[in-house]
Amino acid sequence: MYDYDFFVIGAGSGGVRASRMAATYGAKVGICEDYRVGGTCVIRGCVPKKLFVYASEYSSHFSDSKGFGWSGAEQNFDWPALIAAKDKEIDRLNGLYIQTLDNHNVDTIQARGKMLDAHTVELKSAEGTRTVTADKILVATGGWPQMPDIPGIEHAITSNEAFHLEQLPKRMAIVGGGYIAVEFAGIFNGMGVDMHLLYRGIQILRGFDQDIADKLNEEMGKKGIDVRVGTNVTEITKSDDGFLLTLTDGSTLTVDAVMYATGRVPNSKNMGLEDLGVEMEKNGAIIVDENFKTSVDNIFAVGDVTGKIQLTPIAIREGAALAATQFNHTPTLVNYDNIPTAVFSQPSIGTIGLTEAQAVEKFDDDIQVFRSEYRSMKFTLSGRPERSLMKLIIQKSTDLVIGVHMIGPDSAEIAQGIAIAMKCGATKAQFDATVALHPSSAEEFVLMK
Ligand code: NDP
Repeated sequence: MYDYDFFVIGAGSGGVRASRMAATYGAKVGICEDYRVGGTCVIRGCVPKKLFVYASEYSSHFSDSKGFGWSGAEQNFDWPALIAAKDKEIDRLNGLYIQTLDNHNVDTIQARGKMLDAHTVELKSAEGTRTVTADKILVATGGWPQMPDIPGIEHAITSNEAFHLEQLPKRMAIVGGGYIAVEFAGIFNGMGVDMHLLYRGIQILRGFDQDIADKLNEEMGKKGIDVRVGTNVTEITKSDDGFLLTLTDGSTLTVDAVMYATGRVPNSKNMGLEDLGVEMEKNGAIIVDENFKTSVDNIFAVGDVTGKIQLTPIAIREGAALAATQFNHTPTLVNYDNIPTAVFSQPSIGTIGLTEAQAVEKFDDDIQVFRSEYRSMKFTLSGRPERSLMKLIIQKSTDLVIGVHMIGPDSAEIAQGIAIAMKCGATKAQFDATVALHPSSAEEFVLMK
């Protein structure tokens, strides 16, 4: 007889959903967390990031407002005030997550979990160490930022620390060209920081549609961000004037803070998993089958720790599917097709399905691409030089919409609606038959000729 039917290590998006669903189905459930319930998304990821994005957009709103007759808009930004307001909101959400687990009779234990054997978890906390046993165990420990091992890397921060900086730096460099790098470059630039984005590759946002990545680079430049592609940092040294970065072209750059956004690795080390024979990739990603089962029969893993798609809604779906399969006699798989994602860069990006390059690779010349580039109505009066871009990629022989990409205001909100149509297998003819909602940006998607 075990203490629990189901024990979850890690109370982030995947772990919380799996535990409360399993409890709903009647399982006796426990969950442990060594930091704060809510995980990366709620505590130091999506949620505080989006709050920072909102905060940073006000500088553009203030300058836009002048073209609409406003003057004297308050333009002083108080970083500590934002941090305090953000912390209060995160505390509130953290409390709600704890309460939800309580309401579902899930035992929440503040401790770091480590597997001792296939059914025993060691729980270590400030109060001491104890063990619990469970029939089934879920590892949902998420991911952790990785940084390259270069001289002086100890001076760098990651997005984890960016949420708690005591002071807003005057000059800042961000290394990386993925989601986090471009989002934080926009955030700090909007708050008045002199921003430099250093990316080692040819173009930022590798893997995204090329036109969209090109457009973001261009628009970030217009906003005053110094985007340098083909550039990496070889050394960081502390100087009287901040941090001196030596770059791959031999030049130097002095900043007050340097943040690395160079990817995240699965958080699976020192958990006793290797000793149990749980198979992992070289980077620590736990290998699971379509039912999230690891190579050990009663141990499961969902979310970022499996190193697949590092997105909160995916971890949530995986957690829910696992609970339904294991505790509700309802075998449930997760469908990974047409996942919509957004990059909360400025301007923001929304994307679903294949990029043009992927579509060409898959369907060769059986594709047709529709593009629309325009200036948002709002920016005609405001004078903001920003332009939006939308792309529709169609498979010619079936008329199916196989890729949708947008950069411009409200891209994320628009992409979510279009994702439903794509999930239903919408064709270009059906997009064309849809009446435009005027005046909006979204209407461009049904007017592309
Ligand atoms: P990404 O994988 O998106 O980007 C990592 C970037 O760092 C790439 O540009 C990569 O370059 C670069 N890089 C990697 N290693 C090095 C190195 N040694 N030196 C210099 N540059 C390097 O990771 P992020 O950290 O931006 O985000 C992690 C994940 O979190 C994302 O993949 C995403 O799934 C998720 N996320 C989602 C968000 C959203 O949905 N809006 C927001 C934030 C994060 P290269 O291209 O050459 O490999």
